[in-house]
Amino acid sequence: MAANDPGQPPARPDEAVTFDLEPPNSALAIGAHPDDVEFGCGGLLAKWAAAGCTVHHLVCTDGSKGTWDVAADTEALAARRQDEQREAARRLSGASTGEVRFLGRVDGELDSDLATRRDVVRVIRELRPDVVLGHDPWKRYRLHPDHRHAGLLACEGVVAARDPHFFPELELTHHRPSAILLFEADEPNHVEDVTSWLERKLDALLAHESQFESTMHAADEADLTSFRIRISDRLADLGRPYGIGAAEVFHLIDDL
Ligand SMILES: [Zn+2]
Repeated sequence: MAANDPGQPPARPDEAVTFDLEPPNSALAIGAHPDDVEFGCGGLLAKWAAAGCTVHHLVCTDGSKGTWDVAADTEALAARRQDEQREAARRLSGASTGEVRFLGRVDGELDSDLATRRDVVRVIRELRPDVVLGHDPWKRYRLHPDHRHAGLLACEGVVAARDPHFFPELELTHHRPSAILLFEADEPNHVEDVTSWLERKLDALLAHESQFESTMHAADEADLTSFRIRISDRLADLGRPYGIGAAEVFHLIDDL
């Protein structure tokens, strides 16, 4: 039956906020650039990993534009950022770290075309995650096209991965995750308590050393401390309405 069968009552008529999913066996977090996933859902991934969830990462672009240095060797930067992403994944998930994959599209030029969607479907069908996490592609007034396209790739990739007649040339068994969690959500409807995992999220973010200047606005230790405080305050603000010390919020889609 189609998920949007108009004969069925809406699954969640009042759009009530839900809290703290059961940790899944495996999760795949899809980000446009190295570091996006740590910003968007690092606390939740650390929490799930500690509960035994295998945490996989898929980074869509090479991150080669992530510098303010006009003379930068962008190939070297892309290689460095892959190393940083692997280190960030390890800091988040430890022994529960799954695969860290890279689509390698050029930073700033990501598209959600069929060829790229097929590459995402391949990863979903190979890794077979219970939950897929990604950018909310419908966040209003979002400027960066890579984030929008990466979000579309996560959502449309799940649609294609779950149905057997999409991309049969991949010769991979279709796979239907149980839920999608969109971070940077335009309309959050799900809250995760990450109070105990805030430090791990921050440590993972700080694995992205090449981004200290351009993203974290940090030139020295004092700036890095300020960055940690900014992120901590943000997560505290998100949790406060619910009496939670630190929260990450999402738009949950569990009618797949
Ligand atoms: Zn990004």
